[in-house]
Formats: sequence, structure tokens, C-alpha cells
Amino acid sequence: ETVSPRRKIDLLIAAPRGFCAGVDRAIRIVELALERYGAPVYVRHEIVHNRYVVDGLKAKGAVFVEHLDDVPDDLPVIFSAHGVPKSVPEAASARGLEYLDATCPLVSKVHRQAEKMVTEGRHILFVGHRGHPEVIGTFGQVPEGTISLVETAADAEAIEVNDPGNLAFLTQTTLSVDDTSEIVTILKRRFPAILAPKGEDICYATSNRQAAVKSIAGKCDVVLVIGAPNSSNSLRLVEVAQRSGCVAHLVQRGLDVDLAWFDGARTVGITAGASAPETLVREVIDRLAERFELTEREVVTATEGIAFKLPKALQ
Ligand code: SF4
Repeated sequence: ETVSPRRKIDLLIAAPRGFCAGVDRAIRIVELALERYGAPVYVRHEIVHNRYVVDGLKAKGAVFVEHLDDVPDDLPVIFSAHGVPKSVPEAASARGLEYLDATCPLVSKVHRQAEKMVTEGRHILFVGHRGHPEVIGTFGQVPEGTISLVETAADAEAIEVNDPGNLAFLTQTTLSVDDTSEIVTILKRRFPAILAPKGEDICYATSNRQAAVKSIAGKCDVVLVIGAPNSSNSLRLVEVAQRSGCVAHLVQRGLDVDLAWFDGARTVGITAGASAPETLVREVIDRLAERFELTEREVVTATEGIAFKLPKALQ
């Protein structure tokens, strides 16, 4: 019996990929809170959108709930990286709960801009995805009726406003850079007086990861994006790869990989969303190595040196 040699595959690993500074900080906050207060520590919503991360923290004593009502009276609670409506810390204070806010500082920056724009009497057109916790959090910074959601280019073409002279726009931090620029172009064409945010709202991590996957996708037959189905920035990485003409799959971990996807593939790309840990990237690569002879090459399109300060209570 002869054993056929393993087929060769070139593996292009995108960089930057995986954890961003906001995710890193949010996870540290839960870990430090567990050290400081002891288990259990409650977390409202998945601290970041990754089951592996959430399960790891659960094992250390974190308890994840969707509503503040589910947090017992005498225990600390942490708000997730995606941010929360103002009503949430208000309700926590009213109950005398100790809380730690793991909202990414780049999301908080959008919150503060939303407040300022509304204080100036402007109506906000917010580019984002309905139902995402970040969108719910940002809408919850300003009174109802002062902000409207624009999800698509078609929405941007169709939306009617009362006072086109007093408009502003903001965006979710984890959107597609290309789709957003198309939507913003439409808004600016229809409402020339619209006020733009100070700097980009799409965060550095989102745009760096999209640029990185774009740089490899054109050379790949298949791209794997490691991330969760509810992770906005991971879904955008899949779209960016697909638009470059390759087949792209979102996988949560090694076991999700179907080796039949690589029939005839010579070059495979790998990246990971901002909430996916490097361990899972390694796990996926190991899974491929079971079947193929891999030549790994990391393709670096940017380097990131950003870190965010922890909340004062944990410093
Ligand atoms: Fe912050 Fe961007 Fe990371 Fe979201 S993806 S946590 S906005 S750095």
C-alpha cells in the first residue's frame, strides 16, 4: 500500500488580524474584576462576540446575562465592549450596583459626538446594522427621535428628513469601509450641509483588518475568517474577501473547517475578526495541517501599537 504525499498549500496569514485594543481591554476588565471582587462577577451581554472567550471567562466565574434585571443586588456588573444605552448605567446606579464599563473608548467617542450633535440641535443619520448592540447603545445616548438608522445605500437614497440644514452623520465602528464610503457619498450628495464626524468612526482595527484581508484575498482560492456569526467586523471580513473573487468561509474554530473546501485549492488565506483569539487561528491552521503540507507566510499590511487604559477602579 502506498501513502500519497500530502498536497501542498500556500497559506497566507493576514496581519493585522484578531484581537484589537478594545477587545483586549474588555477581557482584562473581566479578569481583573474577578481577581478584585472574586467570583461571581456579572457581565451584561457577551463581553466580546466570541464564544471561546466567553466560555473561558465563565470557567473563571463570570456570569453572562442579557439584562441588568438578571444581576443580583449585591454583585458587581460589567458592561460589554459594544457599549450600552445611558439608561443602563443609570438603572445600575439607581439600584446601588457597582459597575465597570468595558465599552471600547472608540465607541464611547462616537457616543460623546452623538450627544454633542444633538445638543447643537442637529438630527443624526446613523449608519449601522439594526439590532447590533453597538447601535442600540449609541441610539441610547440621545433622546428618541433625534437619530435615524441608515443601513444601506438604498436607505440613504430614500430617507426623508425635516431639516436638511441641521443634519449630522455618524457610523458604527465595525462597518465595511467600502460600503460606508458609498453610503456617506450619497448622504453628502443629498444633504450637502450634513456635518461629518470628527475623524473616522470606523475604528483603526476594523479598517486595518479589512485592508489586510483585501491584500491577500486576490491571491487566494479560499479565505477563512475566524470569528463568530454575531461579530460585525468578522462578517465584514468575509464580504471583503468574497468581493475579491475568492470563496470565503466564516469559522469559529478548527472543527468547523470542512476539508472538502480546499479541493483544488493552491493558496489559502486566513484572518480573524477583532474578537477572535490567536489560539483559534492556530487551531484552524493545525486542522489544515492534518491534511495538507502547508507553507505559511504572514502578509503584514500595517502594525498596531494601540493600547487603552483600564478604568480607574482597576488601575
Ligand atoms: Fe474598539 Fe474597534 Fe475593537 Fe470595536 S473593533 S472594540 S471599536 S477597537
